[in-house]
Amino acid sequence: MDEEDETAEIVEYVPGPAYDVAELPECSRGQFCFFCEFSETGDSDDRMGSLKDMVRSMAAERKSLPQIVNAVHRVYNEIIKGEIDDEPEWSKQSIRSHLLYSTEFTELFDHMIERVLQNIIVRQNQTLVDGLTGEIIEEKRRAFIDSINTYQRLKAASSSGGGGQIGRPKRNLRMIEAVE
Ligand SMILES: [Zn+2]
Repeated sequence: MDEEDETAEIVEYVPGPAYDVAELPECSRGQFCFFCEFSETGDSDDRMGSLKDMVRSMAAERKSLPQIVNAVHRVYNEIIKGEIDDEPEWSKQSIRSHLLYSTEFTELFDHMIERVLQNIIVRQNQTLVDGLTGEIIEEKRRAFIDSINTYQRLKAASSSGGGGQIGRPKRNLRMIEAVE
C-alpha cells in the first residue's frame, strides 16, 4: 500500500509546453552556428548582414519562427555554405536556438512570449465555467483575467516603442530574392 501511495504522489501530471518550440539548447553548444562563428563584414556582398536583415524583415512581417528558421536554413545551404571551408552543416535546431536566445533578435523572443500567452488565454477560456451548473469558477476567472492583464501590458509595452522599432533593411536582399 505504501508503494502505491508513493507512486500516486510522484505522478501528478505530465508537464508540457503551452507553445512547443522543440528542444532549446544554446546554438553554440557542440553545434556549428554561422551567426556565432562569423562576423558581419559591412561590405556590399555581406552575406551575414543580408541574412540578418532578412530575419529582421520577416520578424517585422510577424512571420512564424519555423518559417524564419526554414528561410535562413535554405539561404545558408544554397548560397553561403559552399563558400565556407568544409561546408559545415548549420542545423535548424542551431538556427532556432540562435534566433531565440542570442538576444540579437529579441523581437522573436517577444513574439514567442506573446504566442505562449495567447495559448494560455485560449486554454483558460475553456475552463472558466462549471459544465454542470453553468457557473463561473471564480479561481479560474481570476487567473484568466490575470493572463489578459499581462497580455495587455505586453502589447502596450511593445507598441510604445522602447527600442522595439524595427527599421527597414539596410542592405540589399538580392541574394535572398534569388532563392525565393
Ligand atoms: Zn549562434
